[in-house]
Amino acid sequence: MSVQHDPVQRADFDQYLVPNYAPAAFVPVRGLGSRVWDQSGRELIDFAGGIAVNALGHCHPALVKALTEQANTLWHISNVFTNEPTLRLAHKLVDATFAERVFFCNSGAEANEAAFKLARRVAHDRFGPEKYEIIAALNSFHGRTLFTVSVGGQPKYSDGFGPKIEGITHVPYNDLDALKAAISDKTCAVVLEPIQGEGGVLPADKAYLEGARALCDQHNALLVFDEVQSGMGRSGELFTYMHYGVTPDILSSAKSLGGGFPIGAMLTTTELAKHLAVGTHGTTYGGNPLACAVAEAVLDIVNTPEVLQGVKAKSEQFKQRLLAIGERYGMFAEVRGLGLLLGCVLNDAWKGKAKAVLDAAAAEGVLVLQASPDVVRFAPSLVVEEADIVDGLDRFERAVAKLAQG
Ligand SMILES: *Cc1c(COP(=O)(O)O)cnc(C)c1O
Repeated sequence: MSVQHDPVQRADFDQYLVPNYAPAAFVPVRGLGSRVWDQSGRELIDFAGGIAVNALGHCHPALVKALTEQANTLWHISNVFTNEPTLRLAHKLVDATFAERVFFCNSGAEANEAAFKLARRVAHDRFGPEKYEIIAALNSFHGRTLFTVSVGGQPKYSDGFGPKIEGITHVPYNDLDALKAAISDKTCAVVLEPIQGEGGVLPADKAYLEGARALCDQHNALLVFDEVQSGMGRSGELFTYMHYGVTPDILSSAKSLGGGFPIGAMLTTTELAKHLAVGTHGTTYGGNPLACAVAEAVLDIVNTPEVLQGVKAKSEQFKQRLLAIGERYGMFAEVRGLGLLLGCVLNDAWKGKAKAVLDAAAAEGVLVLQASPDVVRFAPSLVVEEADIVDGLDRFERAVAKLAQG
């Protein structure tokens, strides 16, 4: 049974939507695996993955099944009750990670909001009202609520909305001396992305995260890892902290967690979790049965040696081919990142032109992203098929070649 809709077009966006986005000139209408089709029937290969969200591509049969079964069972019941998908997903996340307790919400920003509020609450309860400072990294991204833009290290996202949340300091990323100089007994938390995503696909140095862990322990501060973008298999490990062997006190997840269905989660220990007692924090939709049922199916598939090994193998394939393309056309000489979160760092002649590269790529039929104006980012499905990788990178090379020829 198909519903007849009134025709709509891209121009309607400019007429009816708040102008905070600048979407592409075409409108995708359907997706399957790593391919999407627009209104005109044009097929595109998707290496953008809905900004590191569609971990299993589009309309993965196991996710469609989980969603439709749950849609015929129970959609929403509120946190006045618990529900079976929430209980199952929480148990599996606890079994799979350092965490002993999970708080569900609906987005990355909300997962971080919960993480930051928990860190402040713990410090307040244990040490009193003076210990509330948060140290975060320059160029970091943690979401768009007022607290999360205040913690995020990009003034372009936090300026102009009135007073920011106080008590937040920003230090250069991967600079342990700067962190050491900034931390004090007033610090309640150090917040880091193990791979800076929006900031340019910049992985942490192992020694930096180890040093941050030690400094937090010395100063009774909590280490918070924002794994909204780096988590759920993207790095080739379930979470990137596992790659580094550095365990946080609090971890935030979202994006790939729902594979395209909105969900976020904050993971922590029992000792810390108890500071969010009944009534201290909450959300209407958090732990929604539809979201948790889909996320459980994502976790079941992603957290297998087969998929995680696959991410590492595909990563090598992407890196080698991208490096060859970058060198052949003199556009980039460095491809950084982990697993299937990769960034081509544009060289001086192309600096600031990531948007032009992604527009050219879309024109050739492949979707890629930018991460800052200087980095072209790839965040494809973790199970992207061989034929799509080859075809998509051929298309990307054609786009780069055309751009380079002017
Ligand atoms: C995308 C992102 C967020 C924000 O997630 P939303 O779901 O957009 O609120 C937070 N942190 C990181 C590292 C992200 O990449």
